[in-house]
This record gives sequence, structure tokens and C-alpha cells, in this order.
Amino acid sequence: MPYFRTTIDTLEAYQPGEQPLPGADVVKLNSNENPYPPSPHALAVLREIQGEELRHYPRPFADEFRTAAADVLNVSPDQLIVGNGSDDILTMLFRSVTDSGRGVAYPVPTYVLYRALARMQDASVTEVPFDETFTLPVRQLVEANAPLTLVASPNSPSGNRAMNDALAELAEGLDGLLAVDEAYVDFATDSALDLVGQHDNVVIVRTLSKSHGLAGLRLGFAIGSAELIAALSKVKDSYNVDAIASRVGAAAIRDTAYTRSVVDRVRTSRARLATGLESIGFRVWPSDANFLLTRPPDGAAGMIYRQLKTAGILVRYFDTPELSDKLRITVGTDAQNDRLLEALGVRQEP
Ligand code: PMP
Repeated sequence: MPYFRTTIDTLEAYQPGEQPLPGADVVKLNSNENPYPPSPHALAVLREIQGEELRHYPRPFADEFRTAAADVLNVSPDQLIVGNGSDDILTMLFRSVTDSGRGVAYPVPTYVLYRALARMQDASVTEVPFDETFTLPVRQLVEANAPLTLVASPNSPSGNRAMNDALAELAEGLDGLLAVDEAYVDFATDSALDLVGQHDNVVIVRTLSKSHGLAGLRLGFAIGSAELIAALSKVKDSYNVDAIASRVGAAAIRDTAYTRSVVDRVRTSRARLATGLESIGFRVWPSDANFLLTRPPDGAAGMIYRQLKTAGILVRYFDTPELSDKLRITVGTDAQNDRLLEALGVRQEP
């Protein structure tokens, strides 16, 4: 097309997991969504919203959610910026930090959107391969010393989180910004949030899409020093978070007891699912997230992915050299996980 920048013309669009139509009889274990509904308090707020409230533009900084999240995380509201999902936050980071002379670095395999966002900015990309254990390659990332370094922790698709001492060493060694993408952190036992107070180049990215069961609402946020957040806010869209998301999200993030109960259930199911898969010879990597990276016997991942799809069960298959023998499986309810295990031939207890 002659209408677009060459960069966009040649860009391969990011491919999200398949999204079947609502109501389809599909066990959906391909996008790391939460199998449980959002907080009842959040749903009560949603039902209360009046048309009149939607006549006006929303608060530009989603104040209701910003204050609630700052309260819950014990940071100041000016250390927090809210986005239309954490993808929006990532876009702000790439827009404000990278260009053709200022590149990015991250370990791979990881969230594929990082590559697409870098390409959009014409930013050079240093991809540092993880080893088999998916341990953070601190030395190579420090050597790359990119203006923007990203670490998903827990990482997708591996599921494990980076240790805080490794992240601290990385932050210390870099001249640029370190973004720790904690989309799945509530399913882990620790977070890197404390690094924000210790290193002024660290920004933490979070979302309500996973542990809060609100992927459809589109709400994410970043936490960093007030200076860093002020700089990021210069590149955000004017009203990037809608009035409904801000109010519903505020109630959801305040309902910490509910989130904890959902997370506990997912963690218990995660262990049960791992045991079931291992019983039929799958290799299962240790997970701090709501999904498992697995390798079926003989690495026949593509074939199993297609068979499961025919049986109405969606899991994630990445057809890349490093991942084509593996499947990423979201932890569902026990009933959903049992359907998967049954389709794979695991004999269930009567
Ligand atoms: N980061 C990671 C590592 C993810 O896997 C995802 C989900 N695809 C996101 C960020 C984006 O999530 P959302 O935009 O729904 O907040």
C-alpha cells in the first residue's frame, strides 16, 4: 500500500489467541483468562452505572481507579498511570522511550507484542534467548544496555518469575528503563514492586485481565517514580480509560479477599492439572502463573493442538522453532481441566 510507512506496510500484525463467539461450547484455555467471574462488588457497581454518567468525558487519569489501586498497593497516586489494558501501558512505554536510534532488549520467548511495538517505533530489537530453565539472562541484558529493557515476570509462555535479586542487578546495570511486566504476578508468591522505591529506572506493569477476571473491561496500570509516570502520561491518549472501566476496576481491585480466593483456587487447580499432564508423559515447567508450559511426549504439540481444537478445546500453540514442540495451557476450572485431561487420554478417578 502506498499510503503507509514502509514499517507498517511490512509489519506482521500481532496474532492474539483465537476468541470464539460468546456462548460457543468451547473449553477456552488459550488466552490465560480467569475461569472465574469478576468480584461481585465490581459487578454491583457495573449494574449501578447510569446513562447520565456516560454523557460526559471520563476523568483523563481515571482518578477513581488510580486512587483505589494506589491505596491497595500502598503507593502515591502520582506514582501510578492507568491504561486501556496493560497493552496500552506498553504502547506508552515504547512511544516515550524508543525510536530508530533507541532500541529495546528482552529475553525470548516472551510476550510477542513487545516485538510488534518495537517494529512500529522502528526501534532495533535485541532478543536474548532464555536457556531451558528460563532463568533471567541478566549479564546479556546488561551488555545489550538498551534504552528500554522488558522482563515479563512471570513470563509467558514459560510461566516462571524472575527473582528480585536478578531484577535488582539488572536495574543497577542498565542506563535505561527496566519495565517488569507483572501481568500474572498475583498467581506468584512474590512481586518486584519494592524495586520501584529502590531503583528510579524501574517501572512495574500490571493488569486486571488475569487475576481479577476482567480481560473484557480493558484495564491495566504502571507504577514507577512520580517523575517517570509524569513523563509517560505525556504520550497517553486523552481519555484512554473509559468511565465504566475506572469505576468497576476500582471496586475490583479493592476486593482483595475475593481476588485471593480466586487465585487460591487457580493455584490448586494448577498443581492438579500439572500432575495429570505429567501422568501421561508431558513435561511441565514450574509455573508462577495461571498457565502451564508443557511439552507433550515426542513433542507432537501441533498435532495435539489440532486434535484438541476438533474436540472443542482451545490451547495455545506457537509455531516457532523454539516453541513448536510445546503447548501453553491456561489453568481452567477443575471441570474444564478434566475435559482437557480426558481428551488427552488421562483416566479419571470414578
Ligand atoms: N503482558 C503479558 C505478559 C501478557 O501475557 C498479556 C496478555 N496477553 C498482557 C501483558 C496484556 O494484557 P492486557 O492488555 O489484557 O492487560
